[in-house]
Amino acid sequence: MTFVRLFACASLALSVAGCGTPPSHDNPSAKTSFFPSANPLKAATIGDRIPMEPGAWVHPNRPGRLSGRTLTVSSIHQIKLEPKEVILTFDDGPMPGKTEKVLADLDQYGVKATFLMVGQMAKTYPALARQVAARGHSIGSHTWRHADLRSMDYGLAVSEILRGENAVKAASGVDVGFFRFPYLSDTSRLRATLAQRGTVVLDVAIDSKDYFKTSSEGVIDRTMAALHRRQGGIILMHDIHKRTVNMLPELLARLQSEGYQVVTLRYKRSRMPTLESAAIRNENRRPL
Ligand SMILES: [Zn+2]
Repeated sequence: MTFVRLFACASLALSVAGCGTPPSHDNPSAKTSFFPSANPLKAATIGDRIPMEPGAWVHPNRPGRLSGRTLTVSSIHQIKLEPKEVILTFDDGPMPGKTEKVLADLDQYGVKATFLMVGQMAKTYPALARQVAARGHSIGSHTWRHADLRSMDYGLAVSEILRGENAVKAASGVDVGFFRFPYLSDTSRLRATLAQRGTVVLDVAIDSKDYFKTSSEGVIDRTMAALHRRQGGIILMHDIHKRTVNMLPELLARLQSEGYQVVTLRYKRSRMPTLESAAIRNENRRPL
């Protein structure tokens, strides 16, 4: 089997399971996602809408701007958002034909996101990885091959993380301080290892569930409903899905019109022990 075919299979698996859901396939929505969207034409029209004119909504502190403050962190504990603040994150890319559109939409609103890249993807599309960094977005890693780390031996899981991080770093040319567990499938031991070396794990407050084959409107409605309940937080999306690309202009317009602000997340490395040394220290711990 060629790499291209392997990659296509991996992409299909990602599109079905997504990275916000454990790969148990016991979710009924995930099962039905093997079948074509009920109304693909309706979904395809969303991206054609013109976003609200910047300045149409007036924020009391930052008039007319969706772009909010910049938050520079060295640990997960420093990620503290105010009400109506969000952080945009895109997992599983970069993906040609889709990531570029996401970048263009973000530019239109002057907002920055964090891209959690899969090592294999970044290695395959290094120019796109560099473009994401050059446009001012933050970059993190998401393992080498989108593995379910909770189901793996600890040592193999550490190798998966390290290989992915190195690939993303080599492709993008920038420091890679953020990490997200595929399927959000973490363990206390791996989280401790990552924290010890200063890697910031990005959890999720708002799961757009854009990996389900629902309409773009459905993704927007689900995301906004979750935001209304939680008043803000880190939003999980994927720059590998067409429905995500289609809905993003509308989502950004909704965020602006409802007074949300997009916080730019930056990483500042405070220490640099190797992942291997952190892993060795945790080998001596009792499993949590
Ligand atoms: Zn993922």
